[in-house]
Amino acid sequence: MRFAEIIGQDDVKHRLRMAFREGRIAHALMFLGPEGSGNLALALAFAQYVSCENRSDDDSCGTCTNCRAHANHQFPDLYYTFPFFNVGDKATTCQEWMKDWREFLQHSHYGGLDEWRDHITKDNKQLHISVYEAANIIHQLSLKSFRGGYKFQIIWMAEFLKPDTANKLLKIVEEPPENTIFLFIASSMENLLQTIISRVQVIYVPRITDEEVKSRLLQLGAPEKRAGEIAHFAHGDWNKAMRLLATENPDENYAMQFQTWMRSCYKKDVVALVKWSDMMHAQTREDQKHFIQYAMDQIRQNLILNYTGDAIVRMNQGEKAFADKFAPFINDLNAEDLMDELNAAYRDISQNVYSKLVFTDLSMKVHYMLIRK
Ligand SMILES: [Zn+2]
Repeated sequence: MRFAEIIGQDDVKHRLRMAFREGRIAHALMFLGPEGSGNLALALAFAQYVSCENRSDDDSCGTCTNCRAHANHQFPDLYYTFPFFNVGDKATTCQEWMKDWREFLQHSHYGGLDEWRDHITKDNKQLHISVYEAANIIHQLSLKSFRGGYKFQIIWMAEFLKPDTANKLLKIVEEPPENTIFLFIASSMENLLQTIISRVQVIYVPRITDEEVKSRLLQLGAPEKRAGEIAHFAHGDWNKAMRLLATENPDENYAMQFQTWMRSCYKKDVVALVKWSDMMHAQTREDQKHFIQYAMDQIRQNLILNYTGDAIVRMNQGEKAFADKFAPFINDLNAEDLMDELNAAYRDISQNVYSKLVFTDLSMKVHYMLIRK
């Protein structure tokens, strides 16, 4: 991956290139940025830039042997660690998941944890970075560089490093073998271990700006209006922008699901609600989260409609037709509680709680809030 392929992030790219050219490369970097910001993509582009045999001031060449190996995710001196789940009770390391991991990267460098989990399992498995991975990292970094240059160890989702694994790595992160660079990738400081943070140079990766998302969408051939809408809704998350682009008209689908759901909740139609929860459960976690965001937006719009009329609501015709009957049920007695419950459901889905339960439970709560007088 070349720097030129990365969406936006000019400041970060500039700082990485300068640091390299001036010989100021820390032996452990932490790319810290929200999902979809491109923190992994930046780490990969940086590794390629450092390995390139024919780099310019701005970028790797993209054509030398090393660049081509990087592009196929086959560069022999770059190692990956990422969360996975155990199969049986056998001690496993990332080695066993490399085929899946390469497929995942070939698909996109902006994928998040949900996409990765969906890629390797349809079940509700918890992912983790196994304690055996520490020994694996130490072993692979002890090997001689195959290409005679820098070796790189990527640790994707460094939040998943638990103290037992991290403790085994502290020494090698502090004093790696010669010409070895650790590239940690994380999306929030919150769950990172202090022992790791104190040993890395943190590179903050901001959200991509709406303008940069839009301009890349236009390059991909999206019509002007749609590119603008997607950029607005994606909020700097390229992964989300790509998902929205792939969906013909995501809002129409959500609108139907939302209206069916609200009707069934109001009537407390248990059979319909069970069916609806099953239907939601069958979707990917990303879709479930997008739907909840859509539902929150509709609750907000209906509240506005109820109190101020339709001058400032953002609804299409179908949504408006439903809202004419539905808006009177959204008021200051229940709007805040509805939002709180939707937020809680969003959090549960993100944290991998069994989604069928989340949606069944949420439906009952919504019923009682809608009939509140
Ligand atoms: Zn090159």
